Amino acid sequence: MPIFASSSRSLSAESIVLALEGLYGQVVADDRYDPMEELVSCILSQHTNDKNSYPAFDRMRALYRNWADLEHEDPSVVASIIASAGMAKRKTELIQSCLRAIREERGEYSIDFLGSMAPEEAMEWLQELPGVGPKTAALVLCFQFGMPVLPVDVHVHRVSQRLGLIGPSTDANRAHQELAGWVPGPLVERFHLALIQHGRGLCRARQPQCSACPLAADCDFARRAA
Ligand code: SF4
Repeated sequence: MPIFASSSRSLSAESIVLALEGLYGQVVADDRYDPMEELVSCILSQHTNDKNSYPAFDRMRALYRNWADLEHEDPSVVASIIASAGMAKRKTELIQSCLRAIREERGEYSIDFLGSMAPEEAMEWLQELPGVGPKTAALVLCFQFGMPVLPVDVHVHRVSQRLGLIGPSTDANRAHQELAGWVPGPLVERFHLALIQHGRGLCRARQPQCSACPLAADCDFARRAA
């Protein structure tokens, strides 16, 4: 059962994943990045969408194949390169600080060592870095190291809240803790991807299409709206 269970229901993480994959198909994760690239691209993607952040990251990475060059570049130059991702000045500061922190602590620009840590320990280590919160840390650990850590983005948060898996006032950061352990480890990645699909599909922020949703019978939001 979820930590927050507002009513009796037959929902399980597996039933949700199967219903949503039946609707949208199973999504395959994008594996074009290595761990350091995933980390930096996640910082760059904060408060914007993939359409804006992916090209900005690809442009930046093409120009700075060496992380040291990026760390020591004039911040105003980096900010102009990543401008399309928004908040460019702040993101430049965070990315360069993050690179500096990794180099100073590890002596290299690599976070591969996280793979030998326990997930909780790795989450803690990552969140000590500038610009890294629970979502970014979970994305890196889930998609780069296959750890059973669920990233809660805006879609996962909204859909989970509407279904009643988390409390009505639970914010996204807290949702990482409330959902932890409820989604079985081997399902974490599929659960994350399926809820994103749903949040972009029928369960959009405005006017969710509940009448077409396979989860409607067990959804708190749909029940209240009926
Ligand atoms: S029934 Fe409606 S609110 Fe509930 S998950 Fe489906 S689309 Fe979202």
